[in-house]
Amino acid sequence: MTRPTVHSSELENGCLYVVATPIGNLGDITYRAVDVLTKVDWIAAEDTRHSQKLLQALGIANKKLISLHEHNEEARAQQLLKALQTGEKGALISDAGTPLINDPGYQLVKVLRQSDISVVPIPGASAVITALSAAGVATDRFAYEGFLPARSTKRVASLEALLDETRTMVFYESPHRLMDSLQDFSEVFTGRKMVVAKELTKQFEQFVSGSVEEVIEYFQQNPDRVRGEFVVILSGKVLEKNDSTMNDHLIKTLLAQSLPVKQISEIVASYEGQKKKAVYQRVLELKEV
Ligand code: SAM
Repeated sequence: MTRPTVHSSELENGCLYVVATPIGNLGDITYRAVDVLTKVDWIAAEDTRHSQKLLQALGIANKKLISLHEHNEEARAQQLLKALQTGEKGALISDAGTPLINDPGYQLVKVLRQSDISVVPIPGASAVITALSAAGVATDRFAYEGFLPARSTKRVASLEALLDETRTMVFYESPHRLMDSLQDFSEVFTGRKMVVAKELTKQFEQFVSGSVEEVIEYFQQNPDRVRGEFVVILSGKVLEKNDSTMNDHLIKTLLAQSLPVKQISEIVASYEGQKKKAVYQRVLELKEV
């Protein structure tokens, strides 16, 4: 296999590299990630013991590891800012996937950006994108919702707030909450299509799809599969014919502002998640009334 051209193997002094690591399969580490992790002066990691194992597997030895997690991030950010200001090169990794995506790092990156320190992303795996790429759901627009609240009442309230969401929705879930969570999905989104992606990139990777109730039934019949990590994907609301009354109101309001038909169609189509051509037709109809 030809090794792809690496953009630059010279690291910048005083720069933080935000490096994505695999979400299960070690083969998903990128050439650039290994290059950067090998060359930096230190690596800030969520769990240093966990990351030490990854570095060993990658053949990167004796690297200075600094813990950075949700309980020490603010103080650590100041310390790492000072180190970078002296010209040191650092990397940030999390236990799996892309840092900052439901993982620590936001406080650090914010502080560095405010202080004009370079922050360079080294992209790679993330469970949300990995799941979407093979689930067979609409991916042109999606809403990433991360983890739902742990308590059922709050979870149901969060789900109810998404009832009219027309974009595909993506959630992260842990195995011990999966079944309770799915019950709450069925209470709020009865009959809605969903896909549960399990243990992505690992030996027992699986995509379970169907209505919320069918997915629940599958896991009830296969309790041994309620193991590992999960991404829950929920299809967005499909607008019914009647929902066009809502469009009509919006279209009429924009027509009253004398906006061009094309612009109105674009705004309404994007707002309602509908096809531009159909909205365009409706705008013309209403304009002629
Ligand atoms: N930063 C990570 C990313 O970029 O995806 C997410 C970290 S978050 C703390 C961990 C959650 O991500 C898990 O509970 C699960 O919902 C999801 N996840 C991580 N790895 C996964 C995998 N291999 N298969 C399915 N879901 C995964």
